Amino acid sequence: MSLYAVLGHPIDHSLSPRIHEAFGVLTGRVVRYERREVHPGGLAHALRTFASEGGRGANITVPLKGEAFALAARTTARAQRARAVNTLSWEGEAWAGDNTDGAGLVCDLTVNYGWPLEGRRIVLLGAGGAAQGIIGPLLDQGIAHLAIFNRTLERARNVAESCADARVGVIGSGTGSDTPPFDIVINATAAGLAGSLPMIPGIPDAFFHDVIAYDLMYGPKARDFLGYARAHGARAVADGLGMLVEQAAESFQVWHGVRPPTAPVLTRLRSEIGGG
Ligand code: NAP
Repeated sequence: MSLYAVLGHPIDHSLSPRIHEAFGVLTGRVVRYERREVHPGGLAHALRTFASEGGRGANITVPLKGEAFALAARTTARAQRARAVNTLSWEGEAWAGDNTDGAGLVCDLTVNYGWPLEGRRIVLLGAGGAAQGIIGPLLDQGIAHLAIFNRTLERARNVAESCADARVGVIGSGTGSDTPPFDIVINATAAGLAGSLPMIPGIPDAFFHDVIAYDLMYGPKARDFLGYARAHGARAVADGLGMLVEQAAESFQVWHGVRPPTAPVLTRLRSEIGGG
C-alpha cells in the first residue's frame, strides 16, 4: 500500500492524518498517512528515507515549504508563483511539487463562508510559505488591494516584488499601502504556534474596523488573534480549519485523482475542536 505523510516541525498535533484517512473512507480507499518530524535543513534526507519506505505523497508544513520548493524536480505553475510547495508527489525518481494552500483558502472563504473576494481590500500578516501560497489565488479572485505586513520588512518587500502586481503593497514601506479601510485581515504568521500575537502593536486599530478577520491557524491557537480582532472592531472572524480541510482535499485529488467531499470531515473536526 502507498504511504503518505505530513512533514514539518512542530508536527505532533497535525490533523492531516485524520483528514486524509477520512477522505479515504469517503472515497472507498484505505489511506496510510503518517506525521514525520523534520527540522529545517533535514527535508532532503527525510524524503529519501520516506520514498525508500514506500512514500508516494507528502504534505509539507511549517517551516519547510521553501525547502520543498527548492528540492522538487518539477513544480506546478501555482507552486512556482508561490515559490513554496505544500504537496509533493513521488514520480518514480524524483518529487514533483504543488501548492494547494491558496486554493484551500479561497474555497473556504468563498464557498464555505460565502464571502466573495472581488473588489476587496485585504491586509495580509506574514510573508512566509503560507502567505506566498495564498497571494496569487487571492489576486486571481479580483481583489482590489493586498497590503502585506511582516515582522521582517525586507521579506515582505521581496514577496511583494516577486508578485509584480500593482495591487500588492507593503505596510511600513511608505508606499501608502497602509491606508484603511480594509475588508479582510488575514493572519498568515506562525505567531499562534508559539501562543503569541503577530506583532499586533504594529497594526493600527483602524485596520480591524468592520473587517472579516481570518486566521490560518485554527482552534485554540487562533483564539488570541481572532479575539483581538473582534475587540478592535472586526464584524466576523474565522479560523483556518476549513482551509486546512480544503487544501487537503486538493492534495488528495493530486495524489488519488478524485476530490473528496469536505463537509462531513469539516463538521466532525469542528465539533471536536470548537471555534469557527
Ligand atoms: P513560515 O514559512 O515559517 O513563515 C512564518 C511567518 O510567520 C513569517 O512571516 C514570520 O515572520 C512570521 N512569524 C513567525 N513568528 C512570528 C511572531 N511571533 N510574530 C510575528 N510574525 C511571526 O510558516 P508558514 O508556512 O508561512 O505558516 C504560517 C502559519 O500558517 C502557520 O501557523 C501554519 O500552521 C499556518 N498554515 C495554515 C494552513 C491551513 O490550512 N489552515 C495552511 C498553511 C499554513 P518573519 O519573516 O519575520 O520570520
